[in-house]
Amino acid sequence: MATILHPDSHPAEGVAGLSAEQRLAQLGVDLTKYPAVFERESVEPLSCAKNREITGPILRGFADQLLGKVSNPVMLTHIVTTRCNYSCGFCSFADTLNAKTNELSLTEIEQAYATIGQNLNVIVYSGGETTLNKHLPQIIEAAYRLTPVKSVYIISNAWKPDLLLQITHQVMQRCPGLHLTWSLSIEGPKPTNNATRYTKSPTWDAWQNTIDAMEGLKAIRERFGYDELDVQLCTVCSPGNVDVLDHWYETVRDVLQPDKWNLNLMRKSVQMSSHQLASFDARRAALQLEPFEAKYLDITQRVRADVLSGKLKFLYHTRTPEDGALKSAVDLISQEENRRTVLEESPQFGCKAGSLGAYIGSEGDVSGCEEFAHNPVASKAFGNLRDVNGNFQAIWHGEKASQYRPLVGKAPECRGCTLESQRNYPSILISFKTILKAKALAGQIKRQSV
Ligand code: SF4
Repeated sequence: MATILHPDSHPAEGVAGLSAEQRLAQLGVDLTKYPAVFERESVEPLSCAKNREITGPILRGFADQLLGKVSNPVMLTHIVTTRCNYSCGFCSFADTLNAKTNELSLTEIEQAYATIGQNLNVIVYSGGETTLNKHLPQIIEAAYRLTPVKSVYIISNAWKPDLLLQITHQVMQRCPGLHLTWSLSIEGPKPTNNATRYTKSPTWDAWQNTIDAMEGLKAIRERFGYDELDVQLCTVCSPGNVDVLDHWYETVRDVLQPDKWNLNLMRKSVQMSSHQLASFDARRAALQLEPFEAKYLDITQRVRADVLSGKLKFLYHTRTPEDGALKSAVDLISQEENRRTVLEESPQFGCKAGSLGAYIGSEGDVSGCEEFAHNPVASKAFGNLRDVNGNFQAIWHGEKASQYRPLVGKAPECRGCTLESQRNYPSILISFKTILKAKALAGQIKRQSV
């Protein structure tokens, strides 16, 4: 069955010329195991008129910059739990996973969303395993009701495909016009992935669950007409998978074909104290790239070339092809920025965490980014929502925010930072130079997609 899964085989072997059913069988996917692929509970859409276009937040962001005002966030990273049923060594919360369980309640989250301002366009839900927060669909609905959010990303280990499908049915029906992207974690071919993800049971097939979830999500997009639904695969480039990444990239590109593939560089997080790597500072002082850093540079350049030649699928399902191409262009610029960071070349833009980008931790800490919020030695959290009755503005314009905001981009945490959703994305759209670059790249991507 699994020639395409064997690390030594060419990825395209065994799938060329197969029907859709044969391809699924080749991947070991049996969608009949998942009732939510075929049926859904009908729920009424929320009635909620909001202008969710990105143009307004971008223009207000530029105006605030010119006037020297603190912007309300355009993008939010919201950690809905730090509990997880897996325990992967490269996780940003590896050292504190499952230690914090007093998560914000739905009511507390609603208070925060109601006061976060009218610029919010993108929310990234992360963890921990996001779907372990049983209120996840209601949290997304609250964001849809109380803010002008347009795009929601959910990062998940896809441990229970049917649960992801049920959440999708709920969100897509309740929130018309919302763009939903699932970002599913997978670290390489099956043997690498299942050895790397540290699930509690040795027979648990994390790889198959992720592939089943991806194919199930593609199937319900088709069957139920979810036009603004995407499913990405996300791989962390780390010492644990560096040897298989060339083959893995080709498998993703030629066989698995998610809507998009993210290659994230393993975090230089202050929390990851257990690995054996020298620190980023020590690595750069030695003037040597670790093999996983060199591989990141190599593969992300291949990704860019393949996207621009049409060889790699990299286009979101959005309301218009222009919107999807712009999102894809922002991803390519973010990868380019990370390459510059690894090589310590001058950045294309400054970090906007703490103004255009915001971070909310699972127990209510607010900051510009996770590195500031959770530095175990010198926390730079702006405050905690529980201390201000959920009033986000009280923290965003409070004393600690004024104290720590000037350190954004300059603090020790910032050297080597490659936080895409916290450092890169909020900055790319509110920089004249990079927005023009993104528009030009988007034009090229769109031409390849027609
Ligand atoms: S550059 Fe600094 S402030 Fe910005 S996201 Fe990274 S660690 Fe946070």
